[in-house]
Amino acid sequence: MGNERRQKVLIADDSEMNRAILADMLGNDYDIIEAENGKEAVAILQKQSSEIDLLLLDIVMPEMDGFGVLRAMNEFRWIEDTPVIMISAENTPDRVQQAYELGITDFISRPFDAIIVHHRVVNTILLYAKQKKLVNMVTDQIYEKEKQSALMIDILSHIVEFRNGESGQHVLHIRTLTELMLRHLLQMSDKYFISKSDISMISTAAALHDIGKIAIPAEILNKPGRLTPEEFAVMKTHSEIGASMLEALPVHQNESLVRKAYEICRWHHERYDGKGYPDGLKGDEIPISAQIVALADVYDALTSERVYKKAIPHEKAVEMILDGQCGQFNPLLLQCLRELEDKIREEMSRVEIRDWSDKRNMRNIADEIMQHEELSASERTLQLLDHERMKYQFFADMSQEVQFEYTVSPPMVVLSEWGARHLGMDEIIMNPCSDKTVRDCFEEGVLENMHQALINTSPSDPIINYDCCVKIKGTDRWIKIIARATWSSDEPPKYQGAIGKALDIHETRTKMAALEEMAAHDAMTGLYNHKFARIRIQDMMTSRPDSKFALGIFDVDHFKQANDTYGHMFGDQVLIHMAKTLKRNMREGTVSARVGGDEFLLFFEYRQHVDLAINRIFNSLIGKYEDFPISVSMGVAQTDVAGTDYDQLFHAADQALYTVKQGGRGYFKFYDGKGCDALTAISPIEDGNDGDGQEEIKEGKEEDS
Ligand code: GH3
Ligand code: MG
Repeated sequence: MGNERRQKVLIADDSEMNRAILADMLGNDYDIIEAENGKEAVAILQKQSSEIDLLLLDIVMPEMDGFGVLRAMNEFRWIEDTPVIMISAENTPDRVQQAYELGITDFISRPFDAIIVHHRVVNTILLYAKQKKLVNMVTDQIYEKEKQSALMIDILSHIVEFRNGESGQHVLHIRTLTELMLRHLLQMSDKYFISKSDISMISTAAALHDIGKIAIPAEILNKPGRLTPEEFAVMKTHSEIGASMLEALPVHQNESLVRKAYEICRWHHERYDGKGYPDGLKGDEIPISAQIVALADVYDALTSERVYKKAIPHEKAVEMILDGQCGQFNPLLLQCLRELEDKIREEMSRVEIRDWSDKRNMRNIADEIMQHEELSASERTLQLLDHERMKYQFFADMSQEVQFEYTVSPPMVVLSEWGARHLGMDEIIMNPCSDKTVRDCFEEGVLENMHQALINTSPSDPIINYDCCVKIKGTDRWIKIIARATWSSDEPPKYQGAIGKALDIHETRTKMAALEEMAAHDAMTGLYNHKFARIRIQDMMTSRPDSKFALGIFDVDHFKQANDTYGHMFGDQVLIHMAKTLKRNMREGTVSARVGGDEFLLFFEYRQHVDLAINRIFNSLIGKYEDFPISVSMGVAQTDVAGTDYDQLFHAADQALYTVKQGGRGYFKFYDGKGCDALTAISPIEDGNDGDGQEEIKEGKEEDS
């Protein structure tokens, strides 16, 4: 005890004698300070109120009386820590009552008994000392507890913040701003019931305002560019998510910190005019804590640098908020902001340099946790993701396919750009199963079946094929959906959604057919090409082994002259003319093809008089195209002579043709199975008989007839 400082008693009395008596009485046990009037007493208290252990106060004094002193002590809240004993001859019940109301501990009437005064002084000082000690102990404990929870809150809010790609200062700023505004608001108005202890609690809770962002997909949270309306809709859910997280805490529901944090999380995006979210609360329906955090959040967003924007200077930011450019706020809070403008600037710059070591620690802890939990995607990963998305979009566009990605959580379908256009849907569809455009597209039960089929897959066999009829822009079309379910790597694996594409089967069929057509035909004449004709002919011979067939090959005589005389284009016209003539004069079931430059093939089934049929065709081909005289040479082979092997048959006809060319051109010849020399030369009949099977043969050269 000996080491403890002596306690101090302040005696405020205008009579020097009175002061001396009291000082004498107490001087042995206490240090005495004297004030001659009320003003002096207040000045002393102002300097060292915490060191004064007791005030002995007279009522009637010049300059300022005892009641004036009491009022000042109330104003500066010294009365809470410094006991006052009033000593006065003015002891009417009114005066005494008034003095007690102003917070004195005791009242001693003059004249007084010295022993009584001494006892009362000693008792009061002891009582206050005990109380002070107790208060300090409790405060220390509370402080310690608060420090711990503040640390936890700091760690938590920094994790959210780093994941959010923010500087690590945001939470600190919000907290400081909230505290400044609350303190000032308390002085300005008693409209909101906020106690001093509430201030630190609300500021601490403010740090948690964005915890709901932990549930927002990183690619939306950290998207460098502007959010699409759909992404913004997802982003907006963070306030409700944060609130439900706090609501779902198994314990602590009654803790005022948790309750305040709930208010702040849920309503810090509400606006005074009711235009905020999630509940569209208006005016003071929004708890004042959330109103203040909202304002702090906007101020800090403006004055901080972000990936997508530069920092706006303090003055400009304040001006924008006061102008209503950032939504409406409580006029009282705007006044607060106006009055605090300088202080905020000062405090904010101090926040930047304060507690670097603490912050570094915090960052380390947060980084550590994030590394383990992989909550954050680093900048590079994000860039890679962006690049992948761009690549995917590009290829999806090029392929002109409906590609899609479906996730269970959040329930969402993302369509490729082309796919969305083709289907007449949005690229991003939230809650696809209940979306009207999706429902209208699929028949009843189709989506459910497909969903079930996907769930029934396994990570080792995740692919499904699903054919269904859909309505695309009003028309029914059959499509084939090929999808791959995505499974998590958990044990057991969880179904997470699917990726896939939808193929328009109608379209595919038509395309395939067109391709086949293109592959089978000669582009210029539209006749079959040789490759395709060969397959067709061989097929016909194999499937009808008892039938008789004939294959003719003819070549235009002196065709080069057409080219040389009239040009290549004219030559083409001649070839097209030949093809048309051929098609026009062929019976149904005849295969005709262009097998070389000016060389054509025909193949048909006959019963008896093949020579008549050939003669008729031969005659139809010759004549004139414009000024160019058309003459052809033809070789013919029959299956009952040359066999049913296509290549042999073709070779035989070709040999016959060769002989005609050698023999002077302009007639046709049948292969007779005895080699080149044994070919029968047959000349065309002038007037071909058209009757089927009625055609008669007449041998000889054209010139002869
Ligand atoms: P020959 O009486 O011996 O048949 O003589 P030819 O002048 O008809 O000559 P040949 O049949 O040996 O050659 C055919 C010519 O047809 C060769 C080539 O210059 C020409 N030719 C080939 N394909 C085309 C084509 O698609 N268009 C045109 N304009 N000419 C072609
Ligand atoms: Mg020719």
